[in-house]
Amino acid sequence: MFRKLAVLALAVLFFAPATLLLSVGVLMNPAANAACSTTGSLSVGTVPDNLRVTTADGSTFTLSKAQLTHAATIITVGDKIDGVGRPGVKIALMAALTESTLRMLANTGTYPESGDYPNDGNGGDHDSLGLFQMRPQSGWGTVADLMDPAYQARAFFGGPTGPNHGSPQGLLDILGWQTMDPGEAAQSVEVSAFPDRYRNNAPVADAILNALISTTVSRADSATVGPTFADGSSHMVFPLPAGSWVLASPFGARIHPITGEVSFHTGTDFAAPAGTPILAAADGVVTVAGPVAGYGNLIVIEHRIDGRTVATAYGHMWDTGILVQVGDRVTAGQHIGDVGSDGMSTGPHLHFEVRPGGTNGTAIDAAAWLTQHGAANLPTATTGPTTGCEAHGTTAVAWPVQAGPITAPVSRRGA
Ligand SMILES: [Zn+2]
Repeated sequence: MFRKLAVLALAVLFFAPATLLLSVGVLMNPAANAACSTTGSLSVGTVPDNLRVTTADGSTFTLSKAQLTHAATIITVGDKIDGVGRPGVKIALMAALTESTLRMLANTGTYPESGDYPNDGNGGDHDSLGLFQMRPQSGWGTVADLMDPAYQARAFFGGPTGPNHGSPQGLLDILGWQTMDPGEAAQSVEVSAFPDRYRNNAPVADAILNALISTTVSRADSATVGPTFADGSSHMVFPLPAGSWVLASPFGARIHPITGEVSFHTGTDFAAPAGTPILAAADGVVTVAGPVAGYGNLIVIEHRIDGRTVATAYGHMWDTGILVQVGDRVTAGQHIGDVGSDGMSTGPHLHFEVRPGGTNGTAIDAAAWLTQHGAANLPTATTGPTTGCEAHGTTAVAWPVQAGPITAPVSRRGA
């Protein structure tokens, strides 16, 4: 949060006094704050019988239903604690994967009674127990406490509602965990010397989250969250993880933050730390994935929603922050890129755009569209000078639709 505020503050210093009023207004807006609440967004669906996963260093293995059930417990516990959100749950999964491969390990050598509780085998590291290998002698809890997976999850997340009240520290007790590398954050809770061990499990944690979190909106629920998809197969998700962003610049006319000219901002800017995962807003097919003037790198996805084609676009990723290719089929919530600041941009943010009709359609207010479809609760855009990235000319600018994977860079302007 401090880094995000710093980005805004820096932009305020550089661009026009009026920006201050608008930025404060956005930060204080109750609707915007409501959208930042992190609880209730990670609903676990059916736990699969198994899941094939691959670590960052390329080793592949299969998680059993028992391991995935423990993952579901961690997700469900984290979802109920304000401030955890998907980023915090991912860190917890990385920690439990590294410490125990998501197994409830007894430790009968040190605590014979630990074998009396349901467990997935015996571990022997010091007096460590369970999913997160927590030690009674370090104050994490009693043997009875620590042989309960839900208790271990609550202790890992910590914070004001945690069982240990900051000693030992859970994730929420660590200042600035949100802007740390996830491996470093996991290491900080586990007090281990090897952040790379946790980082290696980042793709596994993502795969678990994608497999376990329900992406189907039931017909009964859909009436309250917005229009249903024509095929009923998917829902819409916010393009950044809960708690990772602040609204930096709305759709509409504004004084350009770099050129100083009045222009039209065709998207909505969400400031977030560089490297924050960008998520596909809905199921669809990638039509653009590469450099486009002003946008830095741009991803465009075409969706069929209620029988109509609509495109969503994601701008300003660095060259290394594009994780999809033209023609890829993506699913709602899939990690498609990483937040960057390439192109005409004043700091790391996601420029998110919505174009009914498809890739070269005319942009509409993306924030209103997300809110209408139940993916956010954002204020209606007001026009005026503000911070953020370039206004991309008029709403009718055509994007080049590329026929295949990008091989040669298209010329771009800006820094
Ligand atoms: Zn923008």
